[in-house]
Amino acid sequence: MLTEGQKKQLGAITRLILPEELSKAELADWSTDRTRLPGSAAGILLPESTEQVQSIIQYANQANLAIVPSGGRTGYAGGAVARDELVLSLSKMDRLIAKDAHLPALHVQSGMITAHLQKEAEKMGFYFPVDFASSGSSQIGGNIATNAGGIHVVRYGMIRNYVQALTVVTGGGQILKTGSTVRKDNTGPDLSQVFIGSEGILGIITEATLRLERKPRDTQLAFLAVPDIGSVLELLRTLRSQIDLLAFECFDARSLRSVQEHLNIPDPFAKSAWYVIAEWEDSGTVPELDCDAQIAVSSEHKKRTWKYREAISESLSMRTVYKNDVSIPLPRMEEYTNLVRARAAELKIEIAIFGHVGDGNLHVNVIAPDGFSKEEFRLASERFTDYSYGLIEDMAGSISAEHGIGILKREAFLKHGTPGKAASLLALKRVFDPNGIMNPGKIV
Ligand SMILES: Cc1cc2nc3c(=O)[nH]c(=O)nc-3n(C[C@H](O)[C@H](O)[C@H](O)COP(=O)(O)OP(=O)(O)OC[C@H]3O[C@@H](n4cnc5c(N)ncnc54)[C@H](O)[C@@H]3O)c2cc1C
Repeated sequence: MLTEGQKKQLGAITRLILPEELSKAELADWSTDRTRLPGSAAGILLPESTEQVQSIIQYANQANLAIVPSGGRTGYAGGAVARDELVLSLSKMDRLIAKDAHLPALHVQSGMITAHLQKEAEKMGFYFPVDFASSGSSQIGGNIATNAGGIHVVRYGMIRNYVQALTVVTGGGQILKTGSTVRKDNTGPDLSQVFIGSEGILGIITEATLRLERKPRDTQLAFLAVPDIGSVLELLRTLRSQIDLLAFECFDARSLRSVQEHLNIPDPFAKSAWYVIAEWEDSGTVPELDCDAQIAVSSEHKKRTWKYREAISESLSMRTVYKNDVSIPLPRMEEYTNLVRARAAELKIEIAIFGHVGDGNLHVNVIAPDGFSKEEFRLASERFTDYSYGLIEDMAGSISAEHGIGILKREAFLKHGTPGKAASLLALKRVFDPNGIMNPGKIV
């Protein structure tokens, strides 16, 4: 709870919304992300500039107030959950600051919605490739703070590849400019890398300059049905050797059922155990496809096909699910998938597997079976996840492919993460956030 004096000081810096001005539902919404982990923020701050963010952080250091940076709150790791801290929302900082058609790049405030940046890039005749189902709500700052991936990583990589420069207010209250507006700048290590994926524990990203790509030419899209995960991987190898893939996404029959129940859309062209959506830039080469396949014939057809993949997360969230976002080296993926399926059967739970398989990234969702109590489901999910993380550690994969650590994976990160990484992160935290006011309890 803020004191009257603190309310006055903060209110003099920026717009402050107090819990008593909000309904219970509004406060709960400001205090959580897509994990729906419960929170109850001490207040919501809505700064409009880097300087206002700096004044807030400087005051928070003096008054010993903890801050949770808040983007679009579409995160799946609990990183933006505020238990009793102050939420610092970047939603009023969504301005386009400058365009550079030569680099090419866009310089924006970090609260810009991802889809708006994609549109700005398009207006300039370029393309911003970071894209996923939550792009209409997530913010650029949140994307950078989670090193977001999405459906085009197979071709373009994660957002890290597009960060040219950042403006950050560190937890210590200093304005730090990282990177550069020129492409080549070897004046020591690039400090942007420290803040990419830092989930708000070191400081607040207030502005970003993001590089853009040439717009892809017309694309071809194939919807493919294959009998097993081995065939999915075989298809990936074949297509990669013939064409320049823009996306290669897969999902199993359980994921498909979930979307069909949610959206009431028809069966796809074939019944199968696994499906793949592959998209590539049309270069005139027609790849050899030795499986059931449907090639989209119009942009409307492509959109309709993508719906089967894009709606999976949302359709699953209608039920109680436990999400696992993991990476497995591709040569071990078939083995991993078979082993976790067998473990799920032993535990009498259902799993739905889908994801960005071209990047080795699977989303393994544990679904609560009818008749399981909350406690039974929690225990079964924990046993399943423990087993899965053990395999991932043995196979040299990652327990968080793209969603981050937040609160949800903190213990698992400490148990299964790279030895020494947590200690190095704590040392970095002491440098950039000496009083520990930034996003306490997240990652480390
Ligand atoms: C339907 C759906 C599909 C998704 N698909 C994908 C996908 O394909 N790939 C993927 O990578 N993710 C995906 N996500 C997860 C999520 O959208 C991403 O993690 C996204 O990057 C989060 O952005 P956000 O603005 O919502 O961040 P938030 O959830 O608000 O915050 C995430 C973390 O970043 C911190 N943060 C936010 N803004 C700042 C800032 N300006 N400065 C410092 N720290 C900050 C927060 O404190 C928190 O720790 C999906 C989510 C949904 C709901």
